[in-house]
Amino acid sequence: MTASKTVDLRSDTVTQPTAAMRAAMAAAPLGDDVFGTDPSVNALQEKIAAMLGFEAALFVPTGTQSNLCAILSHCGRGDEYIVGQQAHAYRWEGGGAAVFGSVQPQPLDHAEDGTLPIAAIKAAIKPDDAHFARTRLLALENTLGGKLLPFDYVQAATDLAKARGLQRHLDGARLFNAAVASVRPELVEGLGAASTGSARTALVIAEARRIADCFDSVSVCFSKGLGAPIGSALCGSREFIARAHRIRKMAGGGMRQAGLLAAAASHALDHHIERLADDHALAKRLAAGLAGIDGLTVEAPQTNIVFIDLADAAKARSAELLASLNAQGILAAGLYRLRFVTHLDVDAAGVDRAVAAIRGFFKA
Ligand SMILES: *Cc1c(COP(=O)(O)O)cnc(C)c1O
Repeated sequence: MTASKTVDLRSDTVTQPTAAMRAAMAAAPLGDDVFGTDPSVNALQEKIAAMLGFEAALFVPTGTQSNLCAILSHCGRGDEYIVGQQAHAYRWEGGGAAVFGSVQPQPLDHAEDGTLPIAAIKAAIKPDDAHFARTRLLALENTLGGKLLPFDYVQAATDLAKARGLQRHLDGARLFNAAVASVRPELVEGLGAASTGSARTALVIAEARRIADCFDSVSVCFSKGLGAPIGSALCGSREFIARAHRIRKMAGGGMRQAGLLAAAASHALDHHIERLADDHALAKRLAAGLAGIDGLTVEAPQTNIVFIDLADAAKARSAELLASLNAQGILAAGLYRLRFVTHLDVDAAGVDRAVAAIRGFFKA
């Protein structure tokens, strides 16, 4: 990396397709997915469904549309879904489920670790009574702001939902980041000499599936850390996906030679899962590099997102800090809470440049 190259830490959505990914796109056989005859789309849908243990999957342009199709397939007019205050499917999607589906969200506050407390979920499930919307769905997000939801929690929350007759949806935009962070170290050690990239990938996929097994539907983004330019998939039962397919059409998400994009997503599943561990290691490197700066609190990253809180005295300088980083070719997001996200197009040299620039700013 040359000194002048931009280090873009704003989001893991900024990745450019690699040369190998572009080649896979160029070589993809194409049809018309609205007729259901695009072989590359069909292959991707089968691949992700099988990987996560579902009957079927639907390729959609965005994670937002994926969550919308999911909520509107699980819920009807006058139903409600329980969701986190900070969840993308509540806070960051323009209220789509309410706007397009007349589905009411029931947002709950997150605990410090990102979970929705079980007691709060229980208390939010409404009895069958004309006063209330019908509680139909529990929607969790994992990772949430880069935090891994503990597996035991996911199991307990989804068991409760199931026992109470609710559907369970996972916004797993970063499910594979969660799976990488969740693989038990003793399993990796257990591989011993067999610890090849593909053996480690198999462990991560098994972990992703263990998480996915707790849900009736799962949405995964290919355009985040997996490094594809566009696209998400919604997974579920055949019957659920048939409903979601209708909603995707209504939402304008029927795409034609979409195999061009599906091929990129498929390439990402084949080649970019295990390397998410590199992004997590770089996030730790960034956090470690920033430890001990007066006025900064660095939240220890669990995956690929580092949040930095500025102390009151430093808050006034946050815009100045971002501008100073920007001038040095380092992009980050946020204001009082700065966010740095590692990904495919960031390397150790880039992280070290960011660390040096931030340290330099606070020395000045
Ligand atoms: C990015 C993201 C989405 C939405 O993805 P878009 O493709 O930007 O619509 C949904 N959920 C989570 C958790 C995300 O991070």
